[in-house]
Amino acid sequence: MNDVLPDEVGRWQRVEQVYARTMSLYGYREVRTPYVEPTGLFVRAIGETTDVVEKEMYSFVHHDEPLTLRPEGTAGAARAFIEHNVSSREPVTRWWYAGPMFRAERPQRGRYRQFYQLGAEIFGDPGPGCDAEMIGMLVGFLRELCVPDVQVLVNSLGGPDTRTRYREALVAHLTPRAASLSPDSQRRLQTNPLRILDSKDERDQSAVADAPGLHDFLDAGDREHFQKLRELLDALGTPYTVEPRLVRGLDYYSRTLFEIKGAHDKLGAGDTLVGGGRYDRMVADLGGPQVPAIGFAAGLERLLIASELAVSSRAVDALVAPIGPEALGPALVLARDLRAEGIRCEVDTRGSSLKSQLRRANTLGARVVFILGKTEIDQGVVQVKDLDGHTQDTLARAQAIRIVVDRLMAASRSVDSRPPTAGNGKETS
Ligand code: AMP
Repeated sequence: MNDVLPDEVGRWQRVEQVYARTMSLYGYREVRTPYVEPTGLFVRAIGETTDVVEKEMYSFVHHDEPLTLRPEGTAGAARAFIEHNVSSREPVTRWWYAGPMFRAERPQRGRYRQFYQLGAEIFGDPGPGCDAEMIGMLVGFLRELCVPDVQVLVNSLGGPDTRTRYREALVAHLTPRAASLSPDSQRRLQTNPLRILDSKDERDQSAVADAPGLHDFLDAGDREHFQKLRELLDALGTPYTVEPRLVRGLDYYSRTLFEIKGAHDKLGAGDTLVGGGRYDRMVADLGGPQVPAIGFAAGLERLLIASELAVSSRAVDALVAPIGPEALGPALVLARDLRAEGIRCEVDTRGSSLKSQLRRANTLGARVVFILGKTEIDQGVVQVKDLDGHTQDTLARAQAIRIVVDRLMAASRSVDSRPPTAGNGKETS
């Protein structure tokens, strides 16, 4: 679990802002659900035999009630969707969320015990149109964050019948080879054999190398759905690779499944930035109506490692520097007037020398210093020192405010109007 110190928070906020904007452009609305839910919700939604439920949940019992810190966002969103009977009011619901998730995993680069996910769900649309749109939207989002080497992997797991038939065939193939599987996969053979397909263990990989392929088991409806998804991704110009062995860790998926990777150089094996897929049975399994759904979650810390977007860490735009004790009052008033104009500023209230106040201005990243001493106050003027342009002017107080407001606003407009991709590796605000 990490602290995020103020110097890093700017990049977090920028990613969150780009995400919120993207979501609203696509008609999603934000939902906020509790960080704690009944343990049973996650067991039913995610699946009893998944790694998350078996090993990674922070669970506790409070007054006889088993509770768990949410390890992901979909189960809580589905619970809220059912509890508030949302489907009776809207045929299609698009929700997004952002916040911390908790998994007791072995920490490594890009893998933490408290981590943040940006996620979304669409309830009520069986796809494949919304599946393709969601994947295309995510690629656009990652481009806006200047994530290099974005790669989309898609697969279809078929519907429940397909999964059952394929599971039987896979078990029949692997049972004679059981002795050569890793201990984990020997166990999974009984509980969750599909997970053996994405095991990284060499013993498992060679056992599944000539296993029957899931795609041979897809029924006509699954095939049509997957074919249409691919056509629509092509229509959107979203490049993708079909990865028949992609199964992912959570149990609830059916039909469309996808992963988006990026910045492999920086993230190595942990380069999966986004994971998502369709979970058409989950809402009914949790006691709600039969409503199809699709969703995804992106790891925020990984996006920050992957993104080449740099954000200014300027704490303020301006410093107001009073010289002498009688200048402190007028300095506080001047700063208040500047803030009313939208200028972020700090007053150096320590009573220190001008030299030390200028050093402070540099540390804060201020562009302008307003210097106020007794002479300035008597004459109703202020000295304006432009730290970027290395100029210093004595101006009437009102004129000083106007000029600085115009200059700073123009500077921030020229940054905002820059296309995000052009800010690659440079300051963007
Ligand atoms: P999942 O909910 O397991 O499908 O994961 C979706 C995304 O969340 C992953 O692709 C990662 O980007 C991120 N993620 C999952 N687990 C962690 C973790 N322990 N630490 C950081 N990010 C994670």
